[in-house]
Amino acid sequence: MTTTDTALDGDRAPEHGPAIGIIGGTGLYSFFDDAAATTELDVDTPFGRPSAPLTSGVIAGRRVVFVPRHGRGHEYLPHEVPYRANMWALRASGARRVLGACAVGSLTPRLPAGTIVVPDQLVDRTHGRPQTFFDRSGFPSPDGPVHVSFADPYCPDLRAVLASDGIVDGGTMVVIEGPRFSTRAESRWYAGQGWSLVNMTGHPEAVLARELRLCYATTCLVTDLDAGVDAGGGVTAEEVFAEFRRGLPIFADRLRDAVANLDPGGDCDCAAADHDPDRIVAAGGAVPR
Ligand SMILES: [Zn+2]
Repeated sequence: MTTTDTALDGDRAPEHGPAIGIIGGTGLYSFFDDAAATTELDVDTPFGRPSAPLTSGVIAGRRVVFVPRHGRGHEYLPHEVPYRANMWALRASGARRVLGACAVGSLTPRLPAGTIVVPDQLVDRTHGRPQTFFDRSGFPSPDGPVHVSFADPYCPDLRAVLASDGIVDGGTMVVIEGPRFSTRAESRWYAGQGWSLVNMTGHPEAVLARELRLCYATTCLVTDLDAGVDAGGGVTAEEVFAEFRRGLPIFADRLRDAVANLDPGGDCDCAAADHDPDRIVAAGGAVPR
């Protein structure tokens, strides 16, 4: 195991404090202040393995635990991502505040490719994805049924840190099942509801974070205009990946700024729940799947 000697808040070394979790693309490996001083965490969970071993290290003086959402070789399609294992592994590795980074389509020409948006609402149009830890297929809660509040799906503290100057603050992201893109009719319908972004991975990450009392918010890089937008000619995967690569340097810089400005141990209402995730996660290793 390798460690780092970068100090945080005086003499307190970051590896001993709560961590900031990041879920995003493999391009974020280059974020770490010293790639040679990172630690690989091979975490198992009651929900299987995360998308890849977690990487623990220091970014901008903060201890960060990172998991690439789609795996190191982008082997998981959006509906195949082990969302429960990813979030559980982050919490078990010390993360208490989690930043999600993702590519999105825009449902309005007001948000062209290259725009960075921090949504404040989501609409779930996925189907069949487990969106709770606490059911009979997963992990029956020892504290009884869990029905978390989800009216505001994102942590307000994290949103405020992510939505700095030049970043669009707010918007509704509709999360579709994928892996196909939307039809024009679907896309026009989404836009007609007043929703502004479309994505395939934003759910169930947010609600799983809420169940584990983690702060969670997401920052989104617009890669394309969705099929229903008049200026958009329909979306191809090649366009999305090319635009993501183009926007990544700025997107990464802004995410790094957010990490630098975030208190990893900050307390807010996200930590309030009727169940005790620390006890549940601690017991998780013994729970059969
Ligand atoms: Zn919070």
